[in-house]
Amino acid sequence: MTGAELREAFLKFFERYGHTRVSSSPLVPVGDQTLLFTNAGMVQFKGIFLGEERRDYTRATTCQKCVRAGGKHNDLENVGRTARHHTFFEMLGNFSFGDYFKADAIKLAWEFLTKDLGIDPRRLKATVFTEDDEAFNLWKSVAGLPDDRILRLGEKDNFWAMGDTGPCGPCSEIHFHQGDHLPCAEVEAGRPCLGPACECDRWLEVWNLVFMQFNRDASGAMTPLPRPSIDTGMGLERMAAVLQGKLSSYETDLFAPLIRHIAELAGKRYGADREQDVSMQVIADHARAATFLIADGVLPSNEWRGYVLRRIMRRAMRHGRKLGLTEPFLWRGVDWVGEVMGRAYPDIVRERERIMQVVRQEEEQFAKTLDNGMRRIEEYTTAQGAGGGRPIDGRFLFTLYDTYGFPRDLAEEVLVDQGWRTSDETETTWEREMEAQRERARAKAAFGADSEATEGVALYQQVQGALGRPQQFVGYETLTTPATLVALIAGGRRVREATAGDEIEVIVDRTPGYAESGGQIGDTGTLVGRGGQGDIVDTYYRGSKLIVHRVKVRQGGFRENEEVAVAVDSPRRQGLRQHHTGTHLLHAALRKVLGSHVAQAGSLVAPDHLRFDFSHGGAVKDREVEQIEELVNEQVQANTPVTNREMDLNAALAAGAMALFGEKYGDRVRVIKIGDFSTELCGGTHLDATGQIGFFKVAEEGAVAAGVRRIEAVAGTAAVEAVARRERVLKEIGDILKISPEEAPQRLRKLLDEQKALERQLAEMETKVARSKAEDLIAGARQVNGVAVVAGRIDGLDPDGLRALADTLRDRLGSGVVCVGSAVDGKVSLVAAVTRDLTKRFPAGKLVQEVAQAAGGRGGGRPDLAQAGAPDAGKLDSALNLVYDWVARQPA
Ligand SMILES: [Zn+2]
Ligand SMILES: [Zn+2]
Repeated sequence: MTGAELREAFLKFFERYGHTRVSSSPLVPVGDQTLLFTNAGMVQFKGIFLGEERRDYTRATTCQKCVRAGGKHNDLENVGRTARHHTFFEMLGNFSFGDYFKADAIKLAWEFLTKDLGIDPRRLKATVFTEDDEAFNLWKSVAGLPDDRILRLGEKDNFWAMGDTGPCGPCSEIHFHQGDHLPCAEVEAGRPCLGPACECDRWLEVWNLVFMQFNRDASGAMTPLPRPSIDTGMGLERMAAVLQGKLSSYETDLFAPLIRHIAELAGKRYGADREQDVSMQVIADHARAATFLIADGVLPSNEWRGYVLRRIMRRAMRHGRKLGLTEPFLWRGVDWVGEVMGRAYPDIVRERERIMQVVRQEEEQFAKTLDNGMRRIEEYTTAQGAGGGRPIDGRFLFTLYDTYGFPRDLAEEVLVDQGWRTSDETETTWEREMEAQRERARAKAAFGADSEATEGVALYQQVQGALGRPQQFVGYETLTTPATLVALIAGGRRVREATAGDEIEVIVDRTPGYAESGGQIGDTGTLVGRGGQGDIVDTYYRGSKLIVHRVKVRQGGFRENEEVAVAVDSPRRQGLRQHHTGTHLLHAALRKVLGSHVAQAGSLVAPDHLRFDFSHGGAVKDREVEQIEELVNEQVQANTPVTNREMDLNAALAAGAMALFGEKYGDRVRVIKIGDFSTELCGGTHLDATGQIGFFKVAEEGAVAAGVRRIEAVAGTAAVEAVARRERVLKEIGDILKISPEEAPQRLRKLLDEQKALERQLAEMETKVARSKAEDLIAGARQVNGVAVVAGRIDGLDPDGLRALADTLRDRLGSGVVCVGSAVDGKVSLVAAVTRDLTKRFPAGKLVQEVAQAAGGRGGGRPDLAQAGAPDAGKLDSALNLVYDWVARQPA
C-alpha cells in the first residue's frame, strides 16, 4: 500500500464511522502564538477540547501536516541519521469531542489495523497506563489480546496532558513487532528485551490513543470531565514503512523518489556509503519541511519561525556540499516534493514558483557565506602550511563562525581533509571563546541600552500602579475628553511639573489618543490644562499597554494630578481612518485577485498614505494592480458599512476572520467587518462606512524581498491630490509640446525618433570635421631635430576622442611625435603620442608632463602614449608651442 493510499484509506475508514473529514490546518498555528509550529493533529481542535469552541460535528478525522524542529521534541541534528526522525511529517488522527470514548477508540483502531490494513494481530501489542484497568480490560474483550500482550506503563510513557492545567488523561499505544533479529542493547548486555518499553527497534510504536478524561486544576487536583474525549495520532510515514516492509521511512514511496532525484543530481548511489546516505536523507527530509513551511507563509529570517526554517534549509545545503553539490540545488526539491505530495496538497504546486524563488535566494545567500569562509580557510592554511596532524585551532574556528557565520562542523571537515585533526584542545578553546562572547554580550546588556529599557519598564509599571484602575481608551467613540494627568515623565524619571519648552511624556487616566500599533501610527493632538497648553506630538504604548503621549509644552505648564482636556487632531485622524479601512479593503482585494496565499507581511497606516507588504511570488501585473484598485473602489462606491464587534478570539477565527500571523491578540478581540468583503481582527480606528474613503489609488507596486511584494497606496484627499499631481505633470507636458495630453505619447515617440536621427547625423559630421582637422594638422607638421612633429588643438573633444585623434595622427606620420590638446568648458585635456622607433629619445610621458605644467596641470603615462589634464585653457596655445622646443632640446 502506498503512502497516498494509506492516507486515503484512513480518512475513508473513519468517515464510514461518522467522522467529518477536516482538512489539515496550516503549519503556523492559527491564533496560538505560544506554539512554534503545528506539531500534532489536535492543535486545531484545542479550543473544542478546552470547551471554548463548538463545531457542528462531534467526530472528526484528519491528516495533519506537522513540523517538529528544535525545542524539546526533536533534535534537528538527529534527523536523517535515524530511520524515523523527521522535521516534517503527517499525522493521521481520529477525534471524538464528547462523543465516543475508550471502547470505540480501541475497537476502531483495532479494526482498521487488522482488517483494513490486514496487519497480523500476532505482531501487535498494546500498552496502557498502570492504573487504567478499563483500557486493559477493553484490549482483552474488544481486541481479544491476552494479558501478556498488554503492558502497563507509568505516567512518563502513558499519561498525556495539554499543559500544567487543563484536559489530561491516560493513553494507550499500539506497538508493531518488527522482528527479534534486530539488535537490542538489553540483549547484548545479557538481559531480555523490554518489548514495547525497550529503546530498540524490535517493537515500533505505531498509534497513540489519548483518553482525555480529567481536568487538572492549578493545585494538581483532577476532576473527571463531563464529556470525555478522544485524540489519536498515527504517523503516516511510520505506518507506510510497516506496510511496505521497510525498517526506515526513507525507503518508503514517500521518500524514495526524493532520494532518487538527489542521488541522480549528485551522481551517487544510495546505499553505497553510510555518510552519503545520511546526507541524502537529510536533504529529502528538509526539502519537504522547507517546501511546506514556505507554502504556509514562513520565510527564512533570523527570528523565531523564520530562524528554524533557515537552520533547516542551511543544514540541507551543507549536506548538499558534502555530496559535492556546489551549485544551488535545494530549490529543485520543491518539484520533487510536489511530485510525491502535490495531489494531497495542491498548495505546494500552486505556490511552486514563489517557494522556489525563496529557496533559491536563501541558497545563493548561504553560498556567499560559505565562499567568504572558504577564502579565510585558504588564507589560513596557506599561512600555516599543511596540517600534518596538528590540532585545529578552536579560536580560528570560532572567528570563522562569529565573523562569517561559517558552520563549525563544515570548517572542521575542510581542515581535516587538509591534514588537520580535531582534538579536545579544539573543543576547549572553542568553548572558552564562546563563553567569552557570552560574557561580552552580558556586559553589554548590563551597561547598554537593554538595562535602560528594563529600568524604563519598571518606571511605566510604577505609573500603571499609580493609575489605580485600568487606563481608558475612548478614541473609538470620541476625539476629545476631560482627563486627570496621572504622571509626567522627563529624562527617564517622574517629575511633578513641566513648563513651557519642555518635551515630556504624559500619562492620563483616559484618552482618545490611539497608540501606535497594528501598523497604524500614533495620534497627535493637544493637551490643555488650567495653566498651560501643549502639543501631543506622538502617542505610543509603554510597559504593558500603557498609552503614553509625548507632549511639547507650548505655554504655561502642567502639574501632576491636574485636570486636563485631551484632544486628537481630527483631520489627521480622519486620514488615518481612511487609510486603515483602505488597508483592509486592499488586503481582501489582493486575496481575491492574486489568491488566498497572500498573507500580510507588514503594514504601515499613516494619515496620508499606506504601505502594505504581502507574500506573493513573482511580479504583480499592471492589469492585476488595476483590478485590485477597481475592486477597492467598487467597495468605496457601495458605501459598505464598517462594523466592529468585540468577541472571543476562537469564535472570531471560526467566523472566518483573517488573523495575522505574528500579531498578538488578547482573549477578547475586535473584529472589523466590511460587509462580506473583509473580516479582520484589528484594534485600529476605522471609518463608519467605506464611502468615506472617497477614492483609492495604488501609487506604487514592487518587490521588497524574495516572495514579498509591497504596495503603496493613497486614499481620500491624498488620493485626489496624487491624481491631481499627475494630471498637472501631464498638462505641463501637453503645454510644452503644444498639444493635448492625449496626443503626448505619440508625439514623444516621434520626437525621440527624430532626436536619434539627429544625433546620428551629428556624430557623422563630427567625424568628418575631426578628419579634416587632422588633415590640417598633418599638413602643418614641422621637422624638428630630424623628426616630424605635430602640435595643435581641436576644442570640444573629450579625452577619449582626443586619444583617438592622437592615434590617427601618429599612424599617419609613420614616424614622429604628436601632441594635441582640447579645451572643454575652460578645462584642458592633453594627449602625447610617439611612434615606436622614437620612444627612447622622446618619451611621451615626459613630453605631456612638460606641456601640462605650462598650463598649470599635470599628467604622465607610457613612452608611446600619455595624457594629462590642466585647469587653464587660456594657456593651451603657448603650452603647445613648447612641444617644438622640447623636441629640439632632446639629445640625439
Ligand atoms: Zn529491545
Ligand atoms: Zn487593521
